[in-house]
This record gives sequence, C-alpha cells and structure tokens, in this order.
Amino acid sequence: STAETTLLQGIRTDLFIGGEWQPAEGDRTFGVSDPATGLELRRVADASPADGIRALDAAVAAQAEWAATAPRRRSTILRDAFDLLVERRADFALLMTLEMGKPLAEADGEVSYGGEFLRWFSEEAVRISGRYGLNPEGTGQTIVSHRPVGPCFFITPWNFPLAMATRKIAPALAAGCTVVIKPAELTPLTTLHLAALFDEVGLPAGVLNVVPTSRSKDLGASVIADTRLRKLSFTGSTPVGVTLLKQAADNVLRTSMELGGNAPFVVFEDADLDAAVEGALLAKFRNIGQACTAANRFLVHEDVAAEFSRRLGDRVSELKVGRGTEEGVRIGPLITDSAVANTAALVDDAVAQGAELVTGGSKLDGAGSFFAPTVLTGIVAGSRILNEEIFAPVLAISTFRTEDEAVEKANDTPYGLVGYVFTRDLARGHRMIDRIDTGMMGLNTGVVSNASAPFGGVKQSGLGREGGAEGIAEYLETKYTLLVGQ
Ligand code: ADP
Repeated sequence: STAETTLLQGIRTDLFIGGEWQPAEGDRTFGVSDPATGLELRRVADASPADGIRALDAAVAAQAEWAATAPRRRSTILRDAFDLLVERRADFALLMTLEMGKPLAEADGEVSYGGEFLRWFSEEAVRISGRYGLNPEGTGQTIVSHRPVGPCFFITPWNFPLAMATRKIAPALAAGCTVVIKPAELTPLTTLHLAALFDEVGLPAGVLNVVPTSRSKDLGASVIADTRLRKLSFTGSTPVGVTLLKQAADNVLRTSMELGGNAPFVVFEDADLDAAVEGALLAKFRNIGQACTAANRFLVHEDVAAEFSRRLGDRVSELKVGRGTEEGVRIGPLITDSAVANTAALVDDAVAQGAELVTGGSKLDGAGSFFAPTVLTGIVAGSRILNEEIFAPVLAISTFRTEDEAVEKANDTPYGLVGYVFTRDLARGHRMIDRIDTGMMGLNTGVVSNASAPFGGVKQSGLGREGGAEGIAEYLETKYTLLVGQ
C-alpha cells in the first residue's frame, strides 16, 4: 500500500554512529524482508566488525560527558522520546508488522509496552541515590554512591523489535551509560527508526549508536573483546547467551542475560475456566507464540482437562491467520520458513508419541511463513515439545492429578523464566509462588510484563532484571568511600 511505501522510504538505513548516518565499510548492505510475503522491504547498511569498533569509539568518546549530564536533562530527553514515540505510534506499529509479522493491533500494543520503558526510566533517572553512615567503630564515615557502569553493548532479538531495544536503552541512558546496539538482522528497521527519533529529541551524538549487521558473530566478538566496553546485555536464545557469557568472561564484563523460557501454565480444578481459557489464548498466541514468556507446557488438572481442551480448541480454530496488516488477523506468519519446519517437526513428534490433535497441526500453503494455530492434548512424557521452546502458535496440553505432581512437572526443565497458575484458592496460589522455580509468576493472568516490574529469569533463563527499580541497578556501579578525620 502507499502508506507502507511512504513509511519504508522514510526509514534511515545507514549505520548510526556518533550522531551521523554512515554507510558500512565497503558500502555493504543486506536485505530485510516481510515474513508474510517473503518480499524484500528495504536494504540496510551491513556493519563490519571494524564498523562495530567505530561505534564503540563513539560511545566511549561520549561516555564522560553523558555521565556528567544532569539527571534532569537525561530524564527530559527520555520523556521527550516517549512523547514523540506516542505521537508516531502508527508508524512504529506498522513498521514492526512489516518486518516482523505480528498483527497490527499487537504491534500497537508493543508501542505502548515498549514506550513505557522510556517513560518509566525518565522517572527513575532523577531517583538514583546512595547512602551515608558511620562505620561500626565510630572512626569514619561510610559513603556509598552509584555511578554509571560505562559503555554498553546490546544484542537484541527479532520478536519484539521495539520493546527489546527500549527495555535496555532507557535504563542505560537514565543511568548515564552510552550504548552500541546491534539489532537482530531480521528486524533492524525499528531500531534504526528509534535512533532517528532519539536524534530528533536532542540525544547528544555518540550516546546511542546502531550497527545492524549480517555478521553478528564476528562483530559481536570484536566489540565484546574490546577492553573499553564495560557491559553486555543480551536477549535471545540460551545457547547464544552461553557463548556470549564465555566471551564476556575474558573481558570481565558486567552482563545481563534474558534467555529462553519453557513456561508452565498450570490450571487447577478450582480455576475459573473462562479466565483460564482467556489467559491461555494470550499466554500462547500473543506474538504468534514467539515470546520467551509464551506458555510452553499446559498442565491441566485431569478433572477439567477435557473441558479446557474443548473450549480452547473451539476458540483457536476461529483465530484468523494472515498478514498482520489485514483486518481481524490474530495470527501472523512465523519469522522464517525454517521456524515453520521446526514447528512441524515438534508437532509431528508429539503426535507420533501419542498426542491427539484438536485443531491445526500443519503449515499453511502459499506465500509467507504461516503455521496453523494448533491445540494438542494428551502430550506423552518424553515428547520433544515438553523440553524445547516451541516459539510458535502451538498449544500442548498434558494432565496432572495432585498439587505435588503439578509442581514437579512445572519445575522439570532447565529454564525458569515465568510460570502461570490459575486457581481460585489464594493459599494454593501462594504455595505455587514459593514452589515454582521461575523469576516471574502470573497468578490468574496470561501476561505479566510491565515496565514498572523486574522482568527476568532464574536457572538457564538468564541473569539480571529489566524494568522496575531493579532495571536501572543493572547499569550502575557501587562505589564505597571511607572518609576519616577532620
Ligand atoms: P533468536 O532465536 O531470537 O533468533 P538468537 O539468540 O539466535 O535468538 O538471536 C538473538 C540475537 O543474537 C540476534 O540479534 C542475533 O543476531 C544475535 N546473535 C546470534 N548469534 C550470535 C553470536 N554468536 N554473537 C553475537 N550475536 C549473536
């Protein structure tokens, strides 16, 4: 459509380094395509490892002045960025739908969610405090203060192109850190558009630098090995996170890692089943199932499993599939054809092991990477679908008999990002909060993320928290001074 063409033509596609739009070394570019059509949307500059280091040069050069910039000024820039983002919400939403595939209504929701990090951390920027006290011996004064960690490197995924960027950029800028960000190669346009927005509201040159690349591994390794870098924050899969942690160890970097999940969604026999069905639809089908917080294993009490499966099957078979720009579409394309193939393999394995298909179950014919929204029941222990992150609109149900069995199954994974529990019994709900090993819990809800709350996981789901008061602490060093005499 013309709206799409106009928007796409207006996106800056060069590297953003030191406040300037620059071509990549050797004028290299790579294509960004629409997963709903497979067609190329734009070509963007393809940063070399040397370009990555140039971006770090700019971040390092800007660090001292940004750290010394008044917190109120940093706060105002973030707030202005929030206001302008809200003004341009339609552009950002459409851009995300085009490069990532999510339905337009959900992309609009991401503008709200992602934008809130700018607003929240504009408010946190002026509330960084320390403490002052007398040492126990009474011989000196103890001063504890906080200062920015220093230049940061961010690697972000494709599934939430805006929110994964703002969730890292906003606290870093609030704390006084400068940034180099490498967006996912599948979805760099949103981050470039965000950089242009920050430039427009007067963010000083070099504070935020963007380096899209098709050579993530090489660029990443170069930047992470540079001793001027002080912090690495990554959101993506656990295997890549493990590799990056090893690289970061050689440089003793501070790290934040938001990695994979395998969320249990537990429905007790006393649950409000209507609420559980609504929660399941959100927890599973939001973002086409491509969220690290997506419910992966539905554990339903055997007394209500048949009813729960039937109601879900009815609802899921009605979900409209199509390009995210089309009216009423709830399920867009998966990000790539290989994601479709992986999903088909997981479903086929579950069925071969004895699961029953309630609805969906296969890839859709025609252009674009579409997989039918699917419900499976009677998942058999040992099926791959219980151990792997599905990352697709496939809802897999198994049953349990007792509370202990539910807990044991919920915790039977190396991951620990989020758990969802539906019960009307609040005492039981509190026991679940204690017993399920995750960084986050949703009690009678299928979505938990919020800029004001600490997002993050335990076990192999990661290290550190994003959002809330905890979010800015990730970008602050603690300095202790003992002051004696006079
Ligand atoms: P996803 O399943 O979301 O694609 P990945 O972990 O593969 O998860 O990718 C998340 C981000 O990490 C992307 O920006 C990708 O380019 C980047 N990435 C993947 N492998 C590496 C690597 N070896 N070094 C640096 N960045 C990487």
